[in-house]
Amino acid sequence: MKPEPLPPGSAIGILGGGQLGRMLALAAAEMGLSVHIYAPPGDNPAADIAKDATLAAWDDEASLARFAEAVEIVTYEFENVPEATARFLAARRPVHPSPDVLAVAQDRLAEKTMAGALGIAVAPFMPVDSGANLAVALARIPPPAILKTRRLGYDGKGQARIDRAEDASAAWAAVGGAPSILEARVAFATEISVLVARGADGAMIAYDVTENRHEGGILHTSTVPANVPAAIAQEAVGIAERIAVALDHVGVLAVELFVAADSAGAPRLLFNELAPRVHNSGHWTTDACLASQFEQHIRAVAGWPLADPRRHSDATMENLIGADAGRWAEIASEPGARLHLYGKAEARPGRKMGHVNRIRPRT
Ligand code: AMP
Repeated sequence: MKPEPLPPGSAIGILGGGQLGRMLALAAAEMGLSVHIYAPPGDNPAADIAKDATLAAWDDEASLARFAEAVEIVTYEFENVPEATARFLAARRPVHPSPDVLAVAQDRLAEKTMAGALGIAVAPFMPVDSGANLAVALARIPPPAILKTRRLGYDGKGQARIDRAEDASAAWAAVGGAPSILEARVAFATEISVLVARGADGAMIAYDVTENRHEGGILHTSTVPANVPAAIAQEAVGIAERIAVALDHVGVLAVELFVAADSAGAPRLLFNELAPRVHNSGHWTTDACLASQFEQHIRAVAGWPLADPRRHSDATMENLIGADAGRWAEIASEPGARLHLYGKAEARPGRKMGHVNRIRPRT
């Protein structure tokens, strides 16, 4: 069904107050829409530039009800919003993507099971609920492996590498004994991601596939074009589109994949995880495409036509983490560099403070 587009002047509610919300708010402002941020009190860089902000707990139903009254639709910039919060709001206003999508994305076991059910290849995995269970799982999925908490993991947090069977109890302690999955470690050649946007009417666009490098579990750079064969890039886009359709997703969806090798040495894609929102690996779209992932997400959730995602330049995005942001003056004077800072108060180690898009002529 084709939704009625939200007219300029309407208010969009965004759950979460981080940098993704800030960049969504900037994009919404360019479209004449206003943003109301809902986030727990703290350092909320999105609230600095939004028209309205409610700083309250995720379970504060009176504040949530007032927030719902003040906006036309609700979306989120952070997938660890409690599912109950999303459901409370969905009873009052349209929430995109739906709380059902949020529930899948919050649980590594659910997302990998969903991918497997769609016939998408994933690294061998097994759920683990106890130390004894981990020993059983390691007999089926021998080291090298990774133990990952099912919930609330990000930027390499909630993960423990298992190089030898003897590492099992240390790994179980490292994840705090939380329900987890054991996953075979993939000897990947490259990590890539795909960003698609899907409207409530089923229309879809895809950005060019991005090549990602991580350092210490945190995304360091994203480069387009990705150095992968065209057929692999096309297959990756097809996987992301299949997931978006299966979830009846509305908004931007990011899908992260490993490019590994099959037994004959040919490249082979393995699904890693999804994010039901704009994603760090899509930040280059702001400066290298006709329309950014942020505009695309706002358009999708507001029922506007999706924008042309065409890429006019090659680009490398570098995250500015912790003290890296101290290089701002040097980066600001670099030709071809577009600097984005998030206005965060304190540059703690591991904290994403900003990013720079280095733009090159399209090859
Ligand atoms: P994740 O939070 O699952 O995206 O993991 C963060 C990063 O850890 C990934 O981007 C990879 O660089 C690495 N990683 C995660 N899972 C695996 C795996 N099964 N094999 C090899 N590296 C992995």
